[in-house]
Amino acid sequence: MTTEQVTHAPLADGSIAELAQGLRGELITPADDNYDEARAIWNGAHDRRPALIVRCAGVADVMRAVEFARSEELLVAVRGGKHSIPGFSTVDDGIVIDLSPMQGVRVDPGARTAVAQAGVTWSGFDQETQAFGLATTGGLVSTTGIAGFTLGGGIGWLMRKHGLTCDNLISADVVTADGRFLHASEDENADLFWGLRGGGGNFGVVTSFEYRLHPVGPTVAAGPVFYPGDRAAEVLRFYREWVKDAPDELTTLVNLLTAPPAPFLPEEWHGKPLVAIIGVHSGSVPEGERAMAPLRELGDPVADLMGPLPYVAMQSLIDPLYGSGAHNYFKSGWLGGLDDAAIDTLVRHHDTVTSPMTEIHVQHIGGAVARVPADATAFGDRSAPFLLNIVARTPTAEGYDEAVAWAQGLHGAMAPSLTGGTYVNFLSNEGDERVRAAYGDKYDRLVALKDEYDPTNLFRLNQNIMPSS
Ligand SMILES: Cc1cc2nc3c(=O)[nH]c(=O)nc-3n(C[C@H](O)[C@H](O)[C@H](O)COP(=O)(O)OP(=O)(O)OC[C@H]3O[C@@H](n4cnc5c(N)ncnc54)[C@H](O)[C@@H]3O)c2cc1C
Repeated sequence: MTTEQVTHAPLADGSIAELAQGLRGELITPADDNYDEARAIWNGAHDRRPALIVRCAGVADVMRAVEFARSEELLVAVRGGKHSIPGFSTVDDGIVIDLSPMQGVRVDPGARTAVAQAGVTWSGFDQETQAFGLATTGGLVSTTGIAGFTLGGGIGWLMRKHGLTCDNLISADVVTADGRFLHASEDENADLFWGLRGGGGNFGVVTSFEYRLHPVGPTVAAGPVFYPGDRAAEVLRFYREWVKDAPDELTTLVNLLTAPPAPFLPEEWHGKPLVAIIGVHSGSVPEGERAMAPLRELGDPVADLMGPLPYVAMQSLIDPLYGSGAHNYFKSGWLGGLDDAAIDTLVRHHDTVTSPMTEIHVQHIGGAVARVPADATAFGDRSAPFLLNIVARTPTAEGYDEAVAWAQGLHGAMAPSLTGGTYVNFLSNEGDERVRAAYGDKYDRLVALKDEYDPTNLFRLNQNIMPSS
């Protein structure tokens, strides 16, 4: 039986009323006017109808909701920023534990740390930390939640200097499947802390995260340079060589895209294939501009938006292109290298893209990410030089299946360059084998943790580590 086929007896009105009475936050059911708004997630491809949505006001609500789900044997979806690509933060018939009302962020500028509740998105987090000129590795789209993002690992513009988001996690508060409230850090429940850094939402509901912060900005050298799509092979070959000497401060990616009708691109290019190199340098602006100068030396760009930019502006630069409701499918994998054959495959598929919203991202990893010892966290693989993410998107259901098939075709064609592993936060709902492949030889240790903290697999709407029983 898959997780999506689970059904249960109808809930008794009395038990729902009792749950509602005990909450500080809101309980939403299909009878409520705001049900449709409350059940929607970012990825419009997943249209589900939960029986209950608990909008948690605090830890007590989370504990009640977990207890209720367990006693009523409900399928549980846990939600922070609702950006799950496979749609795991919603569920048919079950219960959604929605932490989005939990928006507290407390920065300690002296200690360079921040404690954030699990409903915070990167936009809120960056706004609070940048008030003190501080930041930690966060998402490329600021509407993404810190919760799912951190628990899967966290790839962002600061990672080559400061590591993945999970590498900057100091501690977390967790409500486990049996209702316990645990603090996890290097010194306390260290096994759980290991699993929270890459193991996703498998081990409990995290109610708050404590992060290490770093001086960043507030202005950084950053932004994209766009070239014509027919120069994609030239740009990728240049990129492959150029990143070999990139300083840790510089995190970059190449994006093969179709020009959106955006004001920052010349109108005559709208709807045409483009290739962009996008980067952020987390050091001083002059240092960053020097490091990024070769990106414009390829000559004749379609648009050159690189320059000094507030870090928070860079963090939300592409938000308008990634609004909620579109249909989305990601297919990703670590690249062992980027040889000419791989580049030709990427370019060939870019030429046959089925939807103008679809993009192909090749992201340079290495730096501080690769220097963290492989077994220090549950994060799958730190050794690959590049991450491929095929982002297939359509505005509505129309053309979606075709876009998915195209993405799968490209992924298959890239097989000779893929390591077989991938980043769990870019996985779609691809089954147990792909989850095992993402975690590699850490999978058994994760199963042992799952046996300890969630032996009945209450938290299974995720990239699921199945308990051994
Ligand atoms: C537009 C977009 C841009 C993205 N950009 C990046 C990027 O730059 N870098 C990157 O690394 N990833 C990126 N991602 C992937 C992102 O990291 C994952 O989708 C992540 O799961 C989103 O977290 P969320 O809290 O918003 O999602 P949600 O849908 O709320 O949660 C996703 C899953 O995380 C788990 N979860 C959420 N909250 C909790 C909690 N409090 N306790 C326990 N488990 C929880 C649940 O299993 C849930 O199903 C992006 C995704 C999108 C859609």
